[in-house]
Amino acid sequence: MSVTPEINAERLLKDLRHLAQIGAGADGAVHRIAGNDADMAARDWIDKTMRVAGLQSSYDATGNVFARRSATSGPWLLIGSHSDTVPAAGHLDGAYGVIAAMEVLRTLHEAGHPMADHVESVAWFDEEGVREGSQGGLTGSTALTRDPHAEDLFGYIELHVEQGPRMERAGLDLAPVTGIVGVRRYRVTACGQANHAGTTPFEMRQDAGRVASRVAAELRSICQEADPASVGNAGVIAFDPAAANVVPGAARVELEVRAGREEALDAIERALTDFLLLVAAEEECTAHIECTSAKPAAVFDERVLGVVEEVCRRHTDRCAPLLSYAGHDASVISTRIPTAMLFVPSTGGFSHSNREHTADEHLVLGARALLDAVVRTGEVLLPQVLSQQLVAA
Ligand SMILES: [Zn+2]
Repeated sequence: MSVTPEINAERLLKDLRHLAQIGAGADGAVHRIAGNDADMAARDWIDKTMRVAGLQSSYDATGNVFARRSATSGPWLLIGSHSDTVPAAGHLDGAYGVIAAMEVLRTLHEAGHPMADHVESVAWFDEEGVREGSQGGLTGSTALTRDPHAEDLFGYIELHVEQGPRMERAGLDLAPVTGIVGVRRYRVTACGQANHAGTTPFEMRQDAGRVASRVAAELRSICQEADPASVGNAGVIAFDPAAANVVPGAARVELEVRAGREEALDAIERALTDFLLLVAAEEECTAHIECTSAKPAAVFDERVLGVVEEVCRRHTDRCAPLLSYAGHDASVISTRIPTAMLFVPSTGGFSHSNREHTADEHLVLGARALLDAVVRTGEVLLPQVLSQQLVAA
């Protein structure tokens, strides 16, 4: 076993500050929408920085920027995140994982560590999906899952800021991420009879608005009962006609549910449907629920997650596994390559905002943990992968 080198904390923070300026407005908010001038300038800077460090850097056809040691033949452990942002973004979402990956690869390369030949860094293209014509984001990572290059990769680790308040509230420094929630959206429609809101007694109404409202109000209990770690939201509600003196004859409510396991999402869907039919019957209306979109939950690879967890615990006692409630490139990559993630806390839980912040000590700690996780994943997984390749040859 070779000694693990130490990352250059000063360079990490300096590079983060540099990238934060590319596409920044006067208020510090970052505007690197995938493919815009600032985003391309950032990719160019990442590419040049890795070349200057003596590494081989290249763009793929989608716009992802990969870097690794030249004259290496893999297999590689991929590390990185996305360098595009939402409009008026913070400076850490995505960027932190990219810069930390660049730092880890450069550290291993400069130290001549044997794992340097088996690491590749990536800056994904269009994770956010706000670019015109984007099919919901995760563009670069989705393209990789269909690319032959995926066969050369034996793992993927993504370091990210949490983007929520859970770690700070629990006083955590690091969190191994067990998976990413699946997201299902529903359109619930109810049909009753529009009528005079004064002359129609309560017990004679067919109030479609009440069906929609009762479902919206019950969603929280339904989620908590099926899976205490799930969340739900009723984000849109509409009555027809929308008038204070008319009992709504029709109503629509749009719901979203997030949970870490498909079984939990199934249970919530069943309970939601049962409740809707019950309420519709009580209100003498008809009702219908339709799933309008479903992103599957990602459960991360036991071995890679095991390594990440072991490394996080080595660095701090204030560490506990966490589920990601936001989407990440790691969710699509995990369908093809053994994957795990780790989080550092977000001050105040702010993200997709220029209030996004993480203490320098946490930024440095996360990058250190990433480096250790990379070295340890190499020790655990690489011998198996290499011996399988030998057998296959
Ligand atoms: Zn992100």
